[in-house]
Amino acid sequence: MAGYARSVAALCTVPVDAPQEKPAGGKFVCALCGYIYDPAEGDPAHGVAPGTPFDAIPSSWSCPLCGVDKEMFKPVE
Ligand SMILES: [Zn+2]
Repeated sequence: MAGYARSVAALCTVPVDAPQEKPAGGKFVCALCGYIYDPAEGDPAHGVAPGTPFDAIPSSWSCPLCGVDKEMFKPVE
Protein backbone atom coordinates (compact mmCIF):
# COMPACT_ATOMS: atom_id res chain seq x y z
CA MET A 1 0.00 0.00 0.00
CA ALA A 2 3.04 2.24 0.28
CA GLY A 3 3.03 2.77 -3.47
CA TYR A 4 -0.59 3.86 -3.40
CA ALA A 5 0.10 6.39 -0.64
CA ARG A 6 3.02 7.79 -2.60
CA SER A 7 0.96 8.30 -5.74
CA VAL A 8 -1.76 10.07 -3.78
CA ALA A 9 0.84 12.35 -2.22
CA ALA A 10 2.20 13.11 -5.68
CA LEU A 11 -1.27 14.06 -6.89
CA CYS A 12 -1.71 16.39 -3.95
CA THR A 13 1.46 18.31 -4.78
CA VAL A 14 0.19 19.26 -8.25
CA PRO A 15 -0.66 22.96 -8.11
CA VAL A 16 -4.31 23.59 -8.89
CA ASP A 17 -3.81 27.19 -9.89
CA ALA A 18 -0.47 28.26 -11.32
CA PRO A 19 0.77 31.40 -9.56
CA GLN A 20 0.55 34.54 -11.61
CA GLU A 21 4.12 35.58 -12.24
CA LYS A 22 3.41 38.52 -14.51
CA PRO A 23 3.95 41.77 -12.57
CA ALA A 24 1.07 44.20 -12.34
CA GLY A 25 1.86 46.51 -15.21
CA GLY A 26 5.18 47.39 -16.77
CA LYS A 27 7.62 50.25 -16.31
CA PHE A 28 6.97 53.70 -17.71
CA VAL A 29 9.54 56.28 -18.71
CA CYS A 30 9.25 60.05 -18.64
CA ALA A 31 9.49 61.36 -22.19
CA LEU A 32 11.13 64.56 -20.98
CA CYS A 33 13.79 63.58 -18.44
CA GLY A 34 14.02 59.82 -18.70
CA TYR A 35 12.84 59.03 -15.17
CA ILE A 36 11.61 55.45 -15.07
CA TYR A 37 8.60 54.55 -12.95
CA ASP A 38 8.91 50.98 -11.65
CA PRO A 39 5.58 49.58 -10.33
CA ALA A 40 7.52 47.29 -7.98
CA GLU A 41 9.08 50.32 -6.28
CA GLY A 42 6.31 52.86 -6.71
CA ASP A 43 6.99 56.43 -5.64
CA PRO A 44 6.51 56.39 -1.85
CA ALA A 45 7.93 59.92 -1.50
CA HIS A 46 4.95 61.17 -3.51
CA GLY A 47 2.21 58.96 -2.11
CA VAL A 48 2.46 56.06 -4.57
CA ALA A 49 2.91 52.79 -2.69
CA PRO A 50 5.23 50.06 -4.01
CA GLY A 51 3.30 47.61 -6.19
CA THR A 52 1.06 50.28 -7.73
CA PRO A 53 0.57 49.78 -11.49
CA PHE A 54 1.17 52.93 -13.52
CA ASP A 55 -2.49 52.98 -14.56
CA ALA A 56 -3.52 53.10 -10.91
CA ILE A 57 -1.49 56.22 -10.09
CA PRO A 58 -3.69 59.27 -9.45
CA SER A 59 -3.79 61.67 -12.39
CA SER A 60 -2.57 64.37 -10.00
CA TRP A 61 0.77 62.59 -9.82
CA SER A 62 3.58 64.07 -11.87
CA CYS A 63 7.17 63.19 -12.66
CA PRO A 64 9.18 63.44 -9.40
CA LEU A 65 12.22 64.71 -11.32
CA CYS A 66 10.92 67.25 -13.83
CA GLY A 67 7.25 67.62 -12.84
CA VAL A 68 5.55 66.90 -16.16
CA ASP A 69 2.10 65.33 -16.22
CA LYS A 70 1.55 61.60 -16.06
CA GLU A 71 0.42 61.74 -19.71
CA MET A 72 4.05 62.44 -20.70
CA PHE A 73 5.11 58.95 -19.66
CA LYS A 74 5.47 56.16 -22.19
CA PRO A 75 5.53 52.41 -21.56
CA VAL A 76 8.98 50.76 -21.52
CA GLU A 77 9.20 47.74 -23.78
ZN1 LIG B 1 10.44 63.71 -15.98
